[in-house]
Amino acid sequence: MAPQPVFRFAPSPNGALHLGHAYSALFTAQAAQAARGRFLLRIEDIDGARTREDHVENIYRDLAWLGLTWETPVRRQSHHAPDYRAALAKLEALGVLYPCYATRGDIAAVIRDLPDHPKDPDGSPLYPGLHRNLSEAERRQFAEAGRPAALRLDMARACEIAHGMSAAPLTFTEDGEGVAGACGLLPARPEIWGDVVLARKDINNSYHLAVVVDDALQRVSTVTRGQDLFFATHLHRLLQVLLGLPEPRYRHHRLIRDEAGEKLSKSAGDRSLASLREHGVTARQVRDHLAANPP
Ligand code: GLU
Repeated sequence: MAPQPVFRFAPSPNGALHLGHAYSALFTAQAAQAARGRFLLRIEDIDGARTREDHVENIYRDLAWLGLTWETPVRRQSHHAPDYRAALAKLEALGVLYPCYATRGDIAAVIRDLPDHPKDPDGSPLYPGLHRNLSEAERRQFAEAGRPAALRLDMARACEIAHGMSAAPLTFTEDGEGVAGACGLLPARPEIWGDVVLARKDINNSYHLAVVVDDALQRVSTVTRGQDLFFATHLHRLLQVLLGLPEPRYRHHRLIRDEAGEKLSKSAGDRSLASLREHGVTARQVRDHLAANPP
């Protein structure tokens, strides 16, 4: 018998959920229901400084208000540090990680002198490689001086190793709608991210690492999420190959936007579900509105 499909909604508790989250959660729950699959909720709280317990409680409250139910216990990333450490150790053993002691200022200073330096899909300049080839002695010096290190992925080496592990080109399957309408079997191009940070200095972890580890541990079969994470999928496929993890299918959806056409954001104080509720809007109205006005 084929295993039951698994879907997940994975919010970060660093602000209040808004209509965009409601759409994503309902989209995922509907996909799970249509496939007679399981619907999981995961709290992505690796960033302790930005996590607030009241946001976690509000996520549960808002989703329950929308009429959703999910399996318990809910996986909270902050409770699973050893899983992420094990993944880092595996990448380290492959020789695809290196410590980077450079500060934001050091990196910005190098980029300032590089006109037309390429940017990653989020619009940040690609890492210019300044600590990629430090000698062991230089690394020791930084470490002895107490300089904290981030761990970066040596992208060129990682792509080479992944290629050696599987001669087939790196691809992913998009069952929804990627950026610019991309769908079907798509080439993964992780190199668009350059030497991305996989373990931040402050938390020894990163979104990209944790999400890939968790989707595998939770046996997620289809990753549903907004198109803002479409390009992240290119990198996630590379990490899955390096870590020997199963390949989920992907289903990205368009983003709910505000009147100015901008993506909704927690930090911009976009109308939260809680404030809609306080203003007398019902969950049914939210569901009907999103069903009638899909992005
Ligand atoms: N935690 C991420 C967010 O709230 C979503 C992660 C994902 O769906 O892959 O944007």
